[in-house]
Amino acid sequence: MKTELQRLQIKGTVLQSGDAGYDNARKVWNGMIDRKPALIAQCTNADDISECVKFARRHNMNVSVRGGGHNVAGNAVCDGGLMIDLSKMKEIKVDAATKTATAEPGVILREFDAATIQHGLATTGGTVSDTGLAGLTLGGGLGWLMGKYGVTADNLLGADMVLADGEKVTVDEKNHPDLYWAIRGGGGNFGIVSKFKYQLHSFGPNVVAGMILYPMEQAKAVMQFYREYARSMPDELMAYSGFIVSPDGMPVTFVLPAWLGDLKDADKHLAPLRAFGTPIADMITEMPYTALQSILDAAAPAGIRRYWKSGYFTELTDELLDIVLKHVATRPSPLSPVLFFHMRGVAARTPTEATAFGNRRDQWDSDIISQWLDPADDEKNITWTRNFWKEIEPLTDGVYVNHLGSDDDPRVANAYGSNFERLKAIKKKYDPDNFFRMNNNIKPA
Ligand SMILES: Cc1cc2nc3c(=O)[nH]c(=O)nc-3n(C[C@H](O)[C@H](O)[C@H](O)COP(=O)(O)OP(=O)(O)OC[C@H]3O[C@@H](n4cnc5c(N)ncnc54)[C@H](O)[C@@H]3O)c2cc1C
Repeated sequence: MKTELQRLQIKGTVLQSGDAGYDNARKVWNGMIDRKPALIAQCTNADDISECVKFARRHNMNVSVRGGGHNVAGNAVCDGGLMIDLSKMKEIKVDAATKTATAEPGVILREFDAATIQHGLATTGGTVSDTGLAGLTLGGGLGWLMGKYGVTADNLLGADMVLADGEKVTVDEKNHPDLYWAIRGGGGNFGIVSKFKYQLHSFGPNVVAGMILYPMEQAKAVMQFYREYARSMPDELMAYSGFIVSPDGMPVTFVLPAWLGDLKDADKHLAPLRAFGTPIADMITEMPYTALQSILDAAAPAGIRRYWKSGYFTELTDELLDIVLKHVATRPSPLSPVLFFHMRGVAARTPTEATAFGNRRDQWDSDIISQWLDPADDEKNITWTRNFWKEIEPLTDGVYVNHLGSDDDPRVANAYGSNFERLKAIKKKYDPDNFFRMNNNIKPA
């Protein structure tokens, strides 16, 4: 089979079990994922991808698609099928004159940011720099710049895609507008993107940002202050928060603001936060945008074991805070953060029907990110997460599709709300057999 796939003039390498590089290629960010594809095709261009799709069809093989490999459920890797690995496709082209960029699907966020910011340009990305641009964009893309410029998908001008029958198409406002709508939030359900085109914005290079850490005794008061503060500021101010354990083993509450506007206005907008409470440390400082883009990297090392639960909260009520604080106090692993990402500004104000990305409003995307090292600790960490989740789930309103975990299939509809029916119809038109199903799956209507 491997020889047959290679004979199709695939320029990239085809790997199977026993080949050097096979085990490395099937590794993803979540160390719990240990799947063994029959074949891994490391594609180099759209033709390779198209050949892979046709090959998998002929052989009735399950297919998974790997961009940056960050999806927590490990959807990038299949057991026994064909893994279409795009991680070698890394071309980025920036056109400073039109403030646009194209990027291939193997690009990770830090590569994209580095390429654009040298032209004084940026667009919304995520918060951890080795996340894949492909999966992030197709699911929406929540990041520091979403208040100013919308989610990443709002800045997607078009894409080159390979459809479920292997056909190569360009998708934008004029060509396949239904598909263009669907891939801005609908994930990898409709085809494989071989190139993305983005709108960039004049930005940076510096921002003012940094964590403020507080002892847990102040946690509730800090969060009560934070929930008002985060909403009272202009779109240029983003503030996330959460609960972590410091490297020296002390559980702490943090607020992480970023001023993304004119640097001379930073102090004025950050002052109320900096004056609140009695922090252990205030690390706010001017820094390059690329440093902000990697500020949470250390909290998310690749390859360790994880289990996630996530949902949106329109209010950080006292009831919610009490439940969160109760569970945070018994967290079995010090590596497990509980995070609140504030969605606001343009991301929240853009009409829901403008793109497939659902659930737009001023709200918090909250994540219980259980992380641990020893497989012997799987059960206790998963149980803790599930018990915690059981208590806060009734307070959620929808979910961000890119934060769905391995056992969240029934929640996919909650990620889209009123856009779900339209997505199912577009899925039926472009992928009636549900060929692309190793994803947060939208079944054809
Ligand atoms: C530590 C961490 C931090 C994160 N932070 C953020 C954040 O700040 N903001 C945010 O919005 N999200 C964030 N996420 C979620 C992230 O957006 C998703 O995990 C996303 O799927 C990552 O994309 P990827 O390309 O790395 O994933 P992969 O695991 O490679 O792919 C995930 C899925 O995307 C689809 N896909 C990937 N590439 C293509 C393609 N070229 N064509 C079609 N389908 C494709 C496939 O269905 C695939 O199964 C974070 C995730 C992690 C683990």
